[in-house]
Amino acid sequence: MKNNIEAFLDLVKERNGHEPEFLQAVEEVAETVIPYIIQHDIYYGKNILLRMVEPERLLSFRVCWVDDKGEIQVNRGYRVQMNSAIGPYKGGLRFHPTVNASILKFLAFEQVFKNSLTTLPMGGGKGGSDFDPKGKSDNEIMRFCHAFMTELFRHIGPNTDVPAGDIGVGAREIGFLFGMYKKLNNEFTGVLTGKGLSWGGSLIRPEATGYGTVYFAQKMLETRNDTIKGKHVVVSGSGNVAQYAAEKVLQLGGKVLTLSDSSGYIYDEDGINEEKLKFVMDLKNLKRGRISEYIKSYPKAKFIEGKTPWEISCDIALPCATQNELHENDANLLLKNGCICVSEGANMPSTKQAISAFHKAKILFAPGKASNAGGVATSGLEMTQNSLRYKWTREEVDNKLKDIMTDIHQSCIQYGQEEDGYIDYVKGANIAGFVKVADAMLAQGIV
Ligand code: NDP
Repeated sequence: MKNNIEAFLDLVKERNGHEPEFLQAVEEVAETVIPYIIQHDIYYGKNILLRMVEPERLLSFRVCWVDDKGEIQVNRGYRVQMNSAIGPYKGGLRFHPTVNASILKFLAFEQVFKNSLTTLPMGGGKGGSDFDPKGKSDNEIMRFCHAFMTELFRHIGPNTDVPAGDIGVGAREIGFLFGMYKKLNNEFTGVLTGKGLSWGGSLIRPEATGYGTVYFAQKMLETRNDTIKGKHVVVSGSGNVAQYAAEKVLQLGGKVLTLSDSSGYIYDEDGINEEKLKFVMDLKNLKRGRISEYIKSYPKAKFIEGKTPWEISCDIALPCATQNELHENDANLLLKNGCICVSEGANMPSTKQAISAFHKAKILFAPGKASNAGGVATSGLEMTQNSLRYKWTREEVDNKLKDIMTDIHQSCIQYGQEEDGYIDYVKGANIAGFVKVADAMLAQGIV
């Protein structure tokens, strides 16, 4: 078994040796899926995983735009169209200076499994740019988004590829991107998700990733006859996912102790209640400020510069910022301080060694491709409403989101429960995601 996995990974490394994040994501999947393939004749000998690690298409393009000083700026744009076996490519756009092919390939690869888990007909893709929205004026953001779309528009469409937001791409950016797509195609169509409510967006889409991450934690806790009520929760990030994860924790009676950004984290021993969270939402979404400004309004809280919040004692940890933000030493610290549950809101926030530590300690651990799938699932619901030219109520969408998170949890149990009853959610999510896509690929032949 070990030899099969190593031989496969050697082959992937040969082709993608300079892409560490992508290799990390592939390794995690290969270790759980290859043993399953070997045990199942229908998948064995078909190079199915080798086909899945190769993007169907990888686009890279020049994005030129003019800044407020009149200077010409040049950025690089990407779209990775990873797998369309079960539906049109679907996945977010990330605008961040660290964006490169490795990061987008890892995200697109994860997206294939995640979208499959949602039970909705969506393939996997991801895109973005090394453009840094921080410190840019609204006009600069608009000019960049418009320039980006003047190339991307020819590669996407409601039945081809439906992008959404991710880090650095929120409601404002989706608006500018949609405006240019509509102008170029002369067509009002459900091509992007995360749209505003008055122009095709879905209720609950902004909340969905964070809410879904907490719903998933709730399902995990239920397997141990426990709930979120009264639990101390440490959250990283302070963007879209972190904000709504914190909101749902509060609604379910938990206490949120931390939030963070790339400069450091705030620790509020009294808890970040609804009023304080509203302050954070205004600070981050309207004023585009930094999380350190929290302590000016709430001086009893502390700002710890340059660190992540995993050193704070908690029952539940929700990493909601970025990839590889939770390392082995962080995992050991969380475990030492009594953490019983980790539900990933971000994509691949825990390193491989951190996940091993959680598994060894047999705590509840959910990988992002299962626990943060509520965002793309609700994007799928937005696509459905666009196609129907119809709008569901907040309650209807929220109930569908809860049902989808429950189904994903069930799939993880189906494929990930071990003989001693422990649920390996990584294995469960990987195999459940794989089976649906692999079956579709086999049915469609070698294409
Ligand atoms: P936002 O841009 O809204 O927020 C990102 C947050 O993470 C910010 O607080 C940001 O801080 C912080 N952050 C970004 N990069 C780093 C870094 N290198 N180190 C420390 N902190 C960092 O993004 P989202 O909330 O939408 O996305 C967060 C995560 O969730 C990502 O992994 C994304 O892929 C994942 N995700 C998002 C979905 C969605 O629907 N939005 C769906 C599924 C997954 P700063 O402002 O300082 O950069």
